[in-house]
Amino acid sequence: MPKNSMQAYLFCVNCEKETQHEIEYRNDQIDKITCQTCHIQVKLNQEFVNAHYKEEFVARVLSKPSRMTREMEADLSGFLKSLPQRVISKPYRVYKEYSHRSKD
Ligand SMILES: [Zn+2]
Repeated sequence: MPKNSMQAYLFCVNCEKETQHEIEYRNDQIDKITCQTCHIQVKLNQEFVNAHYKEEFVARVLSKPSRMTREMEADLSGFLKSLPQRVISKPYRVYKEYSHRSKD
């Protein structure tokens, strides 16, 4: 099974700069986005997305593309910056769990 993820250079709200991110897709829509520098993880709440974003925005920005373009990275960065903190899942806990696991 092919890995359902893509690499992109996006703005990280935790690093406060553009970093390499891994975008994971489920049902051809973004499921979560992980910063490869600080490992903050943005898990997208589909209810939140459906309630706050227009369909064409979701189709354009959150659907799995055949390839990642600079325009898409810019759109995604803007989207990440627009997200309220509460939909971003606890960065430091995730980071701790991550470093814990890699020690095993
Ligand atoms: Zn980061």
